[in-house]
Amino acid sequence: MEVGDAGVDRAAVRARLTQERDALGAMGRDLAASFEDIVGAAKDSNLDDEHDPEGSTIAAERSLVASLGRSAAEALIEIEQALARLDDGTYGVCLRCGAAISPGRLDARPAAALCITCAGRPR
Ligand SMILES: [Zn+2]
Repeated sequence: MEVGDAGVDRAAVRARLTQERDALGAMGRDLAASFEDIVGAAKDSNLDDEHDPEGSTIAAERSLVASLGRSAAEALIEIEQALARLDDGTYGVCLRCGAAISPGRLDARPAAALCITCAGRPR
């Protein structure tokens, strides 16, 4: 077992982060596909009637999918950064104040970059 910085089981954390990254990647692909469906549906409905009242629904759906895609992308970046910190030995250390992030928090959010105190503070 690879136990290093702040008693973190790096091998276990790495396995978990990698798994989450793969799941997010799959979700991203699904979102991209449904985004295309929505755009396709919008084109179809425009053929029928340019002033289709459903147009606004489609726009709302489209922005929902886009924002889901954004948060998935952000989560993905967070995970990549956490994996990089595992490699350079700074994993589990708050990026802002340098304090150790509590094991409970890391267990709930393995990609956490900030301790609970800093995470609760505005940037
Ligand atoms: Zn902190």
